[in-house]
Amino acid sequence: MTLPGAVVCCLLAVWYHRPGFGMPLAPAGSRLPGPCSSRQFWHVTDLHLDPTYHITDDHTKVCASSKGANASNPGPFGDVLCDSPYQLILSAFDFIKNSGQETSFMIWTGDSPPHVPVQELSTDMVINVIANMTTTVQSLFPNLQVFPALGNHDYWPQDQLPVVTSKVYNAVANLWKPWLNEEAISTLRKGGFYSQKVTTNSSLRIISLNTNLYYSSNIVTLNKTDPANQFEWLENTLNNSWQNKEKVYLIAHIPVGYLPFSRNTTAMREYYNEKLIDIFRKYSDVIAGQFYGHTHRDSIMVLSDKKGRPVNSLFVAPAVTPVRSVLQKETNNPGVRLFQYDPRDYQLLDMLQYYLNLTEANMKGESNWKLEYILTQAYDIKDLQPESLYGLAKQFAVLDSKQFIKYYNYFFVSYASSAICDEKCKAFQICAVMNLDHVSYADCLKQFYI
Ligand SMILES: [Zn+2]
Ligand SMILES: [Zn+2]
Repeated sequence: MTLPGAVVCCLLAVWYHRPGFGMPLAPAGSRLPGPCSSRQFWHVTDLHLDPTYHITDDHTKVCASSKGANASNPGPFGDVLCDSPYQLILSAFDFIKNSGQETSFMIWTGDSPPHVPVQELSTDMVINVIANMTTTVQSLFPNLQVFPALGNHDYWPQDQLPVVTSKVYNAVANLWKPWLNEEAISTLRKGGFYSQKVTTNSSLRIISLNTNLYYSSNIVTLNKTDPANQFEWLENTLNNSWQNKEKVYLIAHIPVGYLPFSRNTTAMREYYNEKLIDIFRKYSDVIAGQFYGHTHRDSIMVLSDKKGRPVNSLFVAPAVTPVRSVLQKETNNPGVRLFQYDPRDYQLLDMLQYYLNLTEANMKGESNWKLEYILTQAYDIKDLQPESLYGLAKQFAVLDSKQFIKYYNYFFVSYASSAICDEKCKAFQICAVMNLDHVSYADCLKQFYI
């Protein structure tokens, strides 16, 4: 028998509010009159299964995703030069399953296949990997509502997601039928995107955007003003939500805004980025949160309106795969995260980031997923509202800001705690957090004399 969510929540709240038990899972609180009014959902992203991963003495042969390079320290849970072994992905989902957390749903923002040369995959292999991940989730969580989004690797050849129906769109529409209603399945088949209310009688809607259509590496959409008519659909969907007094969580793989580790680079083509920002500003009252993947790193963004007032909170979740290229110095530990929200207005209250210390897990031969940080507690902010995140970003800019040092450590999911972010690196990070459009981003770099 399962207890109703609210009952479990109350029991947990009583337990966690006992003196000395305050820290691990306590809800953010200050907005909440009582402890029983928050709900939760999981966010997982960038699983990147490498089915070839195996332990062998020849380190060039551990995984196809190392592309012939020597794996650095391969163990049962993976290696930083390889995409995820199945055991790593299973350990993440086992942790989620056994965490005891009551959740309303899960969002899953794409990228299941491995990073391997194009000739080593095919449409059927990509579909097989997505099917494997889907059935893994469905068999472990038969009663959990999952909202997936497609990633740039969820296609063959990678990044080239089309503007019309395709074998992959059809395949995922069939695989994801247990989670999605007919209308959602129909738009997913046509263009790889959909929207659906979380439950029939809730006023929270998930919009799963196919932002891979806007990805700089997608040559199929070059010179197209509205690929797959997704902008038009998005505006209509948001307008309907506004009229019906719904709130929206927007999920997608490729994030809007600027990449935090390089200068002046958007993940999307700039034209598409500006267009999305315009739409998000127009409907900022309807959108209660935005959730992305793709960068494999943990970062936040705050969208401001044209007058500079913060209006939307955006969260980029770190990957489950720990992979890095041979040229990169740092990478991320595997991570999954839990969001808490107020079910009355769907405002985001808090985020709990969990991670696996990969080195330790391989050494011990067991996976010990742990809480990395609770967002409001780590930064001493009251909730995840745009004003709170904006205030935090302003603190980052202070010389030798302790908050920023923390943020930069969490950026790599505590993999590279000794990594130093110099003045230039810090400017790119902060400008990417606070400025999502071209004009304000350029102004921000100027303020840092860059
Ligand atoms: Zn990825
Ligand atoms: Zn990606």
